[in-house]
Amino acid sequence: MILLSGGTGTPKLLAGMREVIPEEEITVIVNTAEDTIVSGNLVCPDIDTVMYLLSGAIDAAKWWGIRDDTFVTHEYLKEIGHHEIMQIGDMDRATHILRSDLIRSGCTLTEAICELTHRFGIRATVLPMTDNEVATHIATSDGVIHFQEYWITHQGEPDALDVQIRGIEDAKPSDAVLAALDGEDQVVIGPSNPITSIGPIIALQGMREIMKRKRVVAISPIIGGAPVSGPAGKLMRACGYAVSSTGVLKCYGDILDTFIVDQMDVEIDEETDAGGVRIVRADTMMSSVDKSKALSQVVVDAFDGLGGVC
Ligand code: GDP
Repeated sequence: MILLSGGTGTPKLLAGMREVIPEEEITVIVNTAEDTIVSGNLVCPDIDTVMYLLSGAIDAAKWWGIRDDTFVTHEYLKEIGHHEIMQIGDMDRATHILRSDLIRSGCTLTEAICELTHRFGIRATVLPMTDNEVATHIATSDGVIHFQEYWITHQGEPDALDVQIRGIEDAKPSDAVLAALDGEDQVVIGPSNPITSIGPIIALQGMREIMKRKRVVAISPIIGGAPVSGPAGKLMRACGYAVSSTGVLKCYGDILDTFIVDQMDVEIDEETDAGGVRIVRADTMMSSVDKSKALSQVVVDAFDGLGGVC
């Protein structure tokens, strides 16, 4: 099974999915459009959360970083006048240093992540969506800023007018992503931000066409007309979508076979809104691993209900 992932909602799903199917059978294709350089090292927020979840190191209270990490380097840098845009834990920084060193010595991002996952003892396959550079920028009334500046420095406060994924027109899925998709028929679009996490993955060259040939089950990240966390609401609105499961369905359009929405989301009507996509209702609020496991079972059952691809 392949999962398309950002850095919060889909990792939460993964926590249960790896108890429902063998971890070796899971490939996660992860968004890289939020990556950024901090103090000389490449930070990949979404990939790192996926890796830390799978290695058991995740700080599940925050859904980023390593549990019980310290911030000595970050704080000392501040003391000597070097401000970092994001709080970086000492152990987390070790990941960034190792990844960046591998890249500086000639590895692609895909190769560097392969090496890191081996060192972390991860049995699933974690693939950056691309080895090309892509970067999400948010247009606000005060100008265009990098996603991390919008979300961390400005806490998602400014009104978002538009979302630009720079470099996406020329970005291709990596060879490893294409090979993984070639050998797998079941693709899950996890409950991640449809604009800034899943949007860049399905906007890669040829990706939508590939997805149309697969059995695709998506889970809505919107519950009761609002995201569980993060800026999905504002950014969906900025891109002209309603902040609802119907809006998420419109983002994905014709690549879905089944769309899992929360049982609270009664507004979505299979007859009028779904355009042939099967709607499945479930409890999608993953407030515990048990709830994530139950939702993962709904996903697996949804594939069983889809039959094979001709
Ligand atoms: P990011 O990269 O940190 O922005 O994380 P993602 O894009 O992977 O996930 C953010 C999305 O996850 C938000 O739109 C949330 O609404 C969604 N999300 C977080 N927790 C849950 C949950 O328990 N259930 C559902 N359905 N969505 C969730």
